[in-house]
Amino acid sequence: MEISLATTCTLIVLLSGGLLIALERMFPYTPGQPLFRGGFLTDLGLYAIVQSYVLGLVIFGFIAWVDEHSGVSRAMVLRSQPLALQMGVMLIIHDFYIYWFHRWQHHSSLLWRIHEAHHSTTEVDWLSGSRSHSLEILVNQTVEFLPIVLLASPEVAVMKGAVDAVWGMYIHSNINVRSGWLQRVINGPEMHRWHHADDPRSHNRNFSTKFAVWDWLFGTAYLPRGEKPTAYGLHDDFPKGYIRQHLYAFRRRS
Ligand SMILES: [Zn+2]
Ligand SMILES: [Zn+2]
Repeated sequence: MEISLATTCTLIVLLSGGLLIALERMFPYTPGQPLFRGGFLTDLGLYAIVQSYVLGLVIFGFIAWVDEHSGVSRAMVLRSQPLALQMGVMLIIHDFYIYWFHRWQHHSSLLWRIHEAHHSTTEVDWLSGSRSHSLEILVNQTVEFLPIVLLASPEVAVMKGAVDAVWGMYIHSNINVRSGWLQRVINGPEMHRWHHADDPRSHNRNFSTKFAVWDWLFGTAYLPRGEKPTAYGLHDDFPKGYIRQHLYAFRRRS
């Protein structure tokens, strides 16, 4: 029996989720944070499963339509290269894009509206990364997967999706990681949890997703020694529940 790449990647994501949950229990960054915290079911059921599935259909349907009408993928631009090289190129280019787009979202009041739901979680953990407004996902994943599908091998899209999921869970996880000099290159909870902190010192800091190097390079890194955030999230009246959090992005200007 041959196991498909998609099945293997799905198993890796599920096992990684289980491993991160176990590590959160053993080595908590913020002790006492419960597994079933507020918004757990919304984040898991509606954001991580239903929204990801539906948006995946929409985004990949759109990309297939673009490909059909442009014929770009038939040019086989990157496909003759080794898979590892294709993955590496796509990882770095996309991570560079997401650093700047993320930074822009924090500086533009309009774009902030589709990003603030992600910051609304008051207990940051392995699942917190899933809470993102559907419009934010539509923009970011179309930009991410359009060049992959058009230029790279089909396997790259599957593997990149899995890497995104695992890395997204890792950087939010409530694990007391101490990666030393590696945190200057590879991003992890040490820096990303500060990005979610309710602390003016860390506002507009730590925009990186996978490679922390962008923050160190462009002057937005924040990593105080021997200190941890004491609170996370936004103001208390940020709505709870999937629909309300979505509609909140379209509220009247106050
Ligand atoms: Zn942010
Ligand atoms: Zn985050």
